[in-house]
Amino acid sequence: MFDFADAGVVARAARPVLSGSGLGALVLAVSGLLVSGQPVQAQPTAMSPQAAQQASPVVNVKAERVSASAWYVQGLSAMGSSANQNFISNAGFVVTPEGVVVIDALGSPALAERLLAEIRRVTPLPVTHVIVTHYHADHIYGLQVFKAQGAQIWAQVAAREYLQSDAARLRMEISRQELAPWIDENTRLVPPDQWISGRTELVVGGRRLVLEPVGPSHTPEDLVVYLPDEKVLFAGDLVFRSRIPFVGQADSGHWVDSLKTLQSLDVAVVVPGHGPLSTEAAKDLALTRDYLVYLRSSMAEAAQNMEPFDSAYESADWSRFEHLPLFKAVNRMNAYNTYLLMEQQAK
Ligand SMILES: [Zn+2]
Repeated sequence: MFDFADAGVVARAARPVLSGSGLGALVLAVSGLLVSGQPVQAQPTAMSPQAAQQASPVVNVKAERVSASAWYVQGLSAMGSSANQNFISNAGFVVTPEGVVVIDALGSPALAERLLAEIRRVTPLPVTHVIVTHYHADHIYGLQVFKAQGAQIWAQVAAREYLQSDAARLRMEISRQELAPWIDENTRLVPPDQWISGRTELVVGGRRLVLEPVGPSHTPEDLVVYLPDEKVLFAGDLVFRSRIPFVGQADSGHWVDSLKTLQSLDVAVVVPGHGPLSTEAAKDLALTRDYLVYLRSSMAEAAQNMEPFDSAYESADWSRFEHLPLFKAVNRMNAYNTYLLMEQQAK
């Protein structure tokens, strides 16, 4: 059964999480690296893609089996860089008797080619669909490779606003500099062929995939993909493992609620957006949830008491999370964005 876009859902999902966000704030949220809205200076890049590929042995795109039909590749627990080709997120694929459904397209066209090569190790069947869990750069810059193969791209309607935004264009410009030569003038944002609003079932070769919108959480357009027959959940960035989640301008309150919804599914294996797969869904969903709950409670108290952010950040107890990879890189920004959200909600 198919249930496609209706305008009412678009209007609800397009609601901005933070009001008064200028472009600088948007860039701050999508970048995770920048401290201002100013694009960084282009680095001189004398290296060809081939040379750079050889110079980055850390990038090992290798498909691992998740269940009878499902596979995934695991990105690195790192910030995106030229050295790692932006291989910082996971992607999955489901092999059916009639074709392959891919979940997310990785962070550069070169990585998508390598994902395609991994798929070819398993099956010669065509990629029929790519499901986008959300339109963050590290999950979608490889889309054009699958589009060129004739795959249909499906995403949740709330991504429409981002795709048309200055933030998306600016993010691409910055990526062409920060992630050269992997992201260049030929890399483009690929919009979906099919917008999804409500819960949607996709059946390919007798395999049933349930696409469940769960935004606005990590992003307005979050989508998870559930294979009920094999109890596999591709959770996108609703679930981070082995690293601090990236919060950006997330609606962390709804994110916590969505995690509760996911916990009610009958799941044997969770493939997170980042980090290794999990066979202990309840425990592993809890890390992301506990982190978000703590961010919200510590920052809400400060915002209500009109305590300045710096002192709130200093007095918060981060001991449960500071051992996790990327704590230093993203925790302060996550806390700051949450502080702004809480301040907004306290008004
Ligand atoms: Zn991600």
